[in-house]
Amino acid sequence: MKNVKYFECTLCHQTFDKKLELMTCPSCGEKGILEIVFDYDKIKREVDRSYFMNNNDYSIWRYLPFLTVDAAYIGNPLKVGFTPLYKSKKLAERYYTEHLYFKDDGCNPTQSLKDRASVIACVKAKELGYDTISCSSTGNAASSLAGNAAKLDLKTVIFVPERAPIGKLIQLKMFGADLIKVKGDYKSTFQLSRDAINHYKWYNRNAAINPHLIEGKKTVALEIAEQMDFKPTDWVVVSVGDGCTIGGVYKGFYDLYNVGLISEIPKIMGVQSEGCSPFYDAFRNRTELQEAEENTIADSIAVGIPRNPVKGMNAVIKSNGAFVKVSDEKILEAMKLLASQEGIFAEPAAAASLAGYIHAREQYIIRKDESVTVIITGNGLKDQKTALNLITDWVELEPDLKQLINHIENEGEKK
Ligand SMILES: *Cc1c(COP(=O)(O)O)cnc(C)c1O
Ligand SMILES: [Zn+2]
Repeated sequence: MKNVKYFECTLCHQTFDKKLELMTCPSCGEKGILEIVFDYDKIKREVDRSYFMNNNDYSIWRYLPFLTVDAAYIGNPLKVGFTPLYKSKKLAERYYTEHLYFKDDGCNPTQSLKDRASVIACVKAKELGYDTISCSSTGNAASSLAGNAAKLDLKTVIFVPERAPIGKLIQLKMFGADLIKVKGDYKSTFQLSRDAINHYKWYNRNAAINPHLIEGKKTVALEIAEQMDFKPTDWVVVSVGDGCTIGGVYKGFYDLYNVGLISEIPKIMGVQSEGCSPFYDAFRNRTELQEAEENTIADSIAVGIPRNPVKGMNAVIKSNGAFVKVSDEKILEAMKLLASQEGIFAEPAAAASLAGYIHAREQYIIRKDESVTVIITGNGLKDQKTALNLITDWVELEPDLKQLINHIENEGEKK
């Protein structure tokens, strides 16, 4: 934490010595989520453009001066980060955006953006002398923590709501996690994990509570900026559940702005599902966040009580961005479009960001002349059941050339 100044409560703004290694504000309790405040003058002395040119580490550790872990404890982790940034042609043309990019974080080792936070949690746990890490998760944080912990030789106890897709559960069981499936929704899962973590004194990987995790997630923004030669797009679009990912996206650009590597922070667009849109509703009505239903196929963003309301909301407000919401139907359409037109297979919560971009173009929230990066947060194979519903035309033939020719020349024509 050599480049960290102090921790600051997002609610009461008290500051705390970084050596205390607090999770949340002692005065505000669990809602007092801490912001980690960096010494940008110090980072500036270490990091400039030539720092990146001479750096051969193509993973999140490339950005170590912006992180809060001690290099001595990194060990030999999975390769997280430096995921591809693709320039779109077909969808860009279709939606009249000259510069449209996809940042494919489904290419991380456990196939979601959550790896950026999980590997930080593992390294931090080692640094602080823990041997067990725990979290509750809609699925990806869980499978990601399990994978990263397996490599770094830590035990994991993981709580998921009963609706978590089987692909994610298989992943984390394969990684050897102790899996507790909670008969209830994400809210009750989160509560049980919190109580258990307090009881057993495990290291807490709940992304809102643990202030280091957003610092891991922000590396996605650091990468986007660097991959665009420090001239990021006008907009960056990302789906929102707890609000940690979008908070991280903002923090990454905020860091780069403060060390003078970018001249402007992109407008950040948060995408929610119509069936669960507490951020969107609060943004629209200018109110506090209200508890919402968790009624969407996009399980990773089905978060009725977002745990990081301040950072999530600030990302949009401070960047002059927007929240939008999209229907499950539009999410499924976007999933199919992204896979068939760009070759990126996204899980529903990840395709939601594309659906949000399309909606924002249709509503002229994003203008024609503005450039856009859409973050794809997780891979589609994690939730095969949903994807399966999109596939209607299976062809099955006898191993017979005549039948095949008949199929291609007659049936095939109809398409
Ligand atoms: C966790 C997750 C999100 C949302 O991140 P939050 O920090 O909960 O807002 C979006 N997409 C995917 C695939 C995720 O796993
Ligand atoms: Zn406080």
